[in-house]
Amino acid sequence: MYDPKSLCADEFIDDGEIRETLAYADANKDNIELIDSILEKARPRRTDKGTFCTGLTHREASVLLACDIPEKVQQMYDLAEEIKKAFYGNRIVMFAPLYLSNYCVNGCLYCPYHMKNKHIARKKLTQEEVAKEVIALQDMGHKRLAIEAGEDPVNNPIEYILDCINTIYSIKHKNGAIRRVNVNIAATTVENYRKLKDAGIGTYILFQETYHKESYLKLHPTGPKHDYNYHTEAMDRAMEGGIDDVGLGVLFGLELYRYEFAGLLMHAEHLEAVHGVGPHTISVPRVKRADDIDPSQFDNGISDEIFAKICALIRIAVPYTGMIISTRESQAVREKVIRLGVSQISGASRTSVGGYTDEDRPHDTEQFDVSDQRTLDEVVCWLMDMGYIPSFCTACYREGRTGDRFMSLCKSGQIQNCCHPNALMTLKEFLMDYASQHTREIGDKLIEKEIDNIPSPKVREIVIKNLKEIAEGSRDFRF
Ligand code: SAM
Repeated sequence: MYDPKSLCADEFIDDGEIRETLAYADANKDNIELIDSILEKARPRRTDKGTFCTGLTHREASVLLACDIPEKVQQMYDLAEEIKKAFYGNRIVMFAPLYLSNYCVNGCLYCPYHMKNKHIARKKLTQEEVAKEVIALQDMGHKRLAIEAGEDPVNNPIEYILDCINTIYSIKHKNGAIRRVNVNIAATTVENYRKLKDAGIGTYILFQETYHKESYLKLHPTGPKHDYNYHTEAMDRAMEGGIDDVGLGVLFGLELYRYEFAGLLMHAEHLEAVHGVGPHTISVPRVKRADDIDPSQFDNGISDEIFAKICALIRIAVPYTGMIISTRESQAVREKVIRLGVSQISGASRTSVGGYTDEDRPHDTEQFDVSDQRTLDEVVCWLMDMGYIPSFCTACYREGRTGDRFMSLCKSGQIQNCCHPNALMTLKEFLMDYASQHTREIGDKLIEKEIDNIPSPKVREIVIKNLKEIAEGSRDFRF
């Protein structure tokens, strides 16, 4: 029985409810009156207390996903852009993944780190190697990392992950610093989540891969990840352990995208219903070619067009949730979905263990092929050319604005007096310390122009003063 408040995965991701939702969406995909009322409900409302959006239920959003009337689809795209502008402005937060270990005891059929893969080199970074990787990442200009590891209680126990987090935060190379470490490791216990929280992590990210239980069990035939309920209930344990910023995701391509989309939104509704706060982020990875993985083995690959529609509808359905796109996607696809709602992107990523210290892009321990292979300087410049502000901001979590406190900032309309200045100041740091001459020139002009978009005169004055001090060598200002 479907119950968003239940703590049992089978009840908050109820298969019957998803099937009924899909049938309802099919029956109404041409119901213009209903579609218009759903679009109307999702529209941002501007009041003197700020801009508000109600979002959509999984049923409403599924109707929009099923609808393929070109004029209505265009309205969905326009609305997604409007919501994106209202809450995220033109800022794009930058991060990089850091692969710690590819030892893994699971049997995931789509991942080359699966246990039976005997020809991939197994590697686990020592703390000295972690430090080297972090220095290489700091030298590019990164301030925010997502750490990644296979699941292996012997080789990658929680103590190893905690040691790595400590090492990462401790490295201060030149003007560099990693100020936020997000963690993407396998589902674990409340006790371990509490340890991660105490180590000062930002978001705990765990992809569901698929919400379709039967497929999930087949795609994860062996290892601890086989336990669908333990995996699906992980975010509840993370929240119980004190982590209130959690990141959801589906690996698109494994199952029918409409099923996954409904499941993803039901998961978000469940977190909101039980913990009073929805997911901090949603990631939208698609299955990629990798060592012994051929994406065409999976029948449910989605076109770039459907992918863009999914991104737009996530933006509309959960307006306060950040959306992440990785270098699995090409420059062209990234360009399209950034406009439609993506708020965070990775840049210059290497998906191999120890990849940042190697001169050439190593393939022997790589998790998947990277489509966007540009340098961080190139990605930053490209974003600015399109009118976006690349942001290296990590202020919210350092100021304790996590969970519902972050959501209230989002809803209060103060984001333009807070996130916008933080973006400009951290971009200035990047320009001073890491950018090429060309990027710096473009960036300085952009900053000058964007200062005028800070609503509060007082905040504007402080930002101008701080920017001057950053140019003279000071670092780490934040609101
Ligand atoms: N081992 C952890 C887990 O199982 O959740 C940590 C994360 S794993 C390093 C990161 C994610 O990469 C997985 O959750 C999966 O969605 C994604 N992934 C695995 N194989 C992939 C592939 N061939 N193409 C694209 N993404 C892939």
